[in-house]
Amino acid sequence: MEFKIPLSPPHLSGNELKHIQDALESNRGTAAGGSIEGLEKDLEAYLGGQTHVAALSSGTAAIHLALILAGVQSGDEVICQSLTFAASAFPILYQGARPLFVDSEPDTWNLCPKRLEEAITDRLKKGRKPRAMIVVHLFGIPAKMDALVEISKAYDIPIIEDAAEALGSEYKGQKCGTIGTFGILSFNVNKIITTWGGGALMCKDIRHKRKAIFLATQAKDRAPWYEHSHVGFNYRMSPVAAAIGRGQMKALPGYMEKRRANHEFYRTLFKPFRYIEVLQEASPDQHANFWLTCIRFATNPAGKGPMGLSAAFQEQGIESKPIWKPMHIQPVFREAPFYGGTVATSIFENGLCLPSGSGLTTDDKDTIAQAALNYLQE
Ligand SMILES: *Cc1c(COP(=O)(O)O)cnc(C)c1O
Repeated sequence: MEFKIPLSPPHLSGNELKHIQDALESNRGTAAGGSIEGLEKDLEAYLGGQTHVAALSSGTAAIHLALILAGVQSGDEVICQSLTFAASAFPILYQGARPLFVDSEPDTWNLCPKRLEEAITDRLKKGRKPRAMIVVHLFGIPAKMDALVEISKAYDIPIIEDAAEALGSEYKGQKCGTIGTFGILSFNVNKIITTWGGGALMCKDIRHKRKAIFLATQAKDRAPWYEHSHVGFNYRMSPVAAAIGRGQMKALPGYMEKRRANHEFYRTLFKPFRYIEVLQEASPDQHANFWLTCIRFATNPAGKGPMGLSAAFQEQGIESKPIWKPMHIQPVFREAPFYGGTVATSIFENGLCLPSGSGLTTDDKDTIAQAALNYLQE
């Protein structure tokens, strides 16, 4: 179905075509000085200069390579936040490893440090040490990194930060995706900036970046002929995609302000309805890009809920979407152990993602407000 107001459509900045033309005319392809290296430098500067970035074909590919670089092998166990998009967890299966899902905490909706520690101590008791943990900054809200990093250090388990939805978000002034041993971004069509398919891996150690690019370009050893001593992948970003990314990067600060303004609009809109909670920053330590603004309904005498609101939106051509269904209740992951209670499932059952694009107009907001108020006040 085509929506008049989609959830998070791509937003052109006007700089993209010029970058594509430059990339094609320079004909550097993947060589030094080309658009791929250019985008990597743009990202490294934007992310604070402390991280090394490899531009890849998708965020999913970036998670896969992060797992390989973390040493994850067949039969290993990897911890993953259950409340996330499936691409956070699928690469665990690509490696022949086993996901262990952990519940969220109620205020950030992200990995719960208490449940995480329970999971680790239980696995250690069973004689198994998880090889890595995937922490997600879901919907652009930073996870509680201090507590998670402390656990990661105490048990010596590296963190892979899935910042696919959180480009621009910060935790204590540090960009999400640059805090853990590895971080990843996605430039899929619905993300805050897009290359119409693309992603990036962030590494603290430049050797990891070099190894990632080696693996992402079919693991060609140095030799006059094609010589291979490792399994390789075709995971490098295309130069055309990178050129689009360079155009989008210029607009990113403005896009983030727009998404933050959307969030303020929703907070004001839902303020009179005490049974609606708008997901927000849990403390001043967090600065969110508010990629999507999400709400959660508490039980209320009026019997209002996410399904009803979503249907009212749909009638007016407004797209909304249920919260990502947790991984531990997905059929494909039914064998995986789960540590936690009902935080993630209850968010899934009572929550809704709202239209949050950076191109949302005043008219769009009026349409959304009218539809919401008609439903909530009827
Ligand atoms: C979009 C997304 C991914 C996957 O990124 P792709 O570039 O689409 O492969 C991974 N994790 C989360 C949380 C995402 O939202």
